[in-house]
Amino acid sequence: MDRVDYTKQLITKIGNLMFQRSLTDLAGGNISVRIDDKIYMTPTLAGMMSFWELRTEQILTLDLKGNVLEGEGKLSREAKVHLVLLNEFYPDATAVIHAHSRNVLVFCAAEKPMPPVIVSVNKFGYIQQCVDAASGTDELANNVADAVRIQTNWKNNKSAPVMAPRHGLFVLSKDLNNALDSVERIDSNAYCIINGATLGVKPIGDNTPINPNYE
Ligand SMILES: [Zn+2]
Repeated sequence: MDRVDYTKQLITKIGNLMFQRSLTDLAGGNISVRIDDKIYMTPTLAGMMSFWELRTEQILTLDLKGNVLEGEGKLSREAKVHLVLLNEFYPDATAVIHAHSRNVLVFCAAEKPMPPVIVSVNKFGYIQQCVDAASGTDELANNVADAVRIQTNWKNNKSAPVMAPRHGLFVLSKDLNNALDSVERIDSNAYCIINGATLGVKPIGDNTPINPNYE
């Protein structure tokens, strides 16, 4: 199997796994991978219309400007974020996952940065909310990119996570397996904070919000 076919299969598999594990929902989420000058991305409404049981034929092939070259379905409005990140950070980063992860959404809804409380996410420090912008806008794409740019250690971490206020999680990663791994670690961290509140779970490290609304 060639690299492109393998990647399309992996995207479909990971979309399905994310949905099964409540790492994203029926309402949203997208997965993208860049190989050379092409980007492979899940279509819009992958949850609502396909229940995250995508066929490889549905994985869109895009050029670097976001024109659809191949694949069934339409481009997601959140594609702008993926395109900005995969244009700027490739080849160090090759994959982006956007997810409406159940426990992470609690932090997005509350517009709170997420402290690390388990060792597996300590490397990320406080996971920040980017500056707010409407879904599907260039502004949101730029705000997410800004929140990645300040993560100067992201290459060592292999992933750069960013929360979007009242929306969900974006993770830029070295590759798609690392992106999935990070989404699950971060959602588990959120779960530990929410459910460990009465146990006095303590954050690791200091918090400096990047979103001026939270200072
Ligand atoms: Zn979304």
